[in-house]
Amino acid sequence: MHPHRTLVLATRNPGKTAEIRDLLQHYPVDIKDLTAFGPIPEAVEDGVTFDENAYKKASLTARVLGLPALADDSGLVVAALGGAPGVYSARYGGPNATDADRCARLLEAMAGFTDRRAAFECVISIAVPTGPALTYEARCEGLIAETPAGANGFGYDPIFYYPPLKHTFAELTREEKNRVSHRGLALRELAAEFDKVLAWIQYQMPDPQPVVCLRDD
Ligand code: IMP
Repeated sequence: MHPHRTLVLATRNPGKTAEIRDLLQHYPVDIKDLTAFGPIPEAVEDGVTFDENAYKKASLTARVLGLPALADDSGLVVAALGGAPGVYSARYGGPNATDADRCARLLEAMAGFTDRRAAFECVISIAVPTGPALTYEARCEGLIAETPAGANGFGYDPIFYYPPLKHTFAELTREEKNRVSHRGLALRELAAEFDKVLAWIQYQMPDPQPVVCLRDD
């Protein structure tokens, strides 16, 4: 396969890789994730927006490997909490907290609030080694439930109530959730114009130069 037809997913999460492979299966692209490479430096996710963090992950991966790379960043934004936990969603509650601890902590923070509006947001960044990047963004609006419900999914799914389906995300099947979720929407937006993305990558990537070996004898 042409080297410019490789796209590296900046993740070691097999679930994410499978989902993206699935969506892009009809395109001429060789999708690899970080498990196909040795240890590489990890981006410090210290950005204040999802966009910044997604770009940091994608561009570092692209530069280190010399290949186009895709990264996503996502989290839960709660209106009554001024947008928290936002980019800190994974770290909310401290380094040793579990998903259940984070949900409990968020419910505590929401005690007494009648404004329960919240949204999951997702940004996907596709970067080439020289720096330029494409960005896809999506959000999914819902409400913070009064109590957790459901056992599917991960993260804040048990306390994210999705009014159109009258259930929390953790009560939906994976297919039901992917159809409406922030990540599902952003990925489908990307998949819908992936031929343009491939053309952009092709244009941005330097042509491999032939190596000339000079011999003295
Ligand atoms: P990441 O973008 O995969 O690093 O996710 C950041 C954090 O946001 C996760 O650790 C979860 O706490 C939260 N999060 C992102 N997407 C979802 C989702 O679909 N359901 C529940 N929690 C999520």
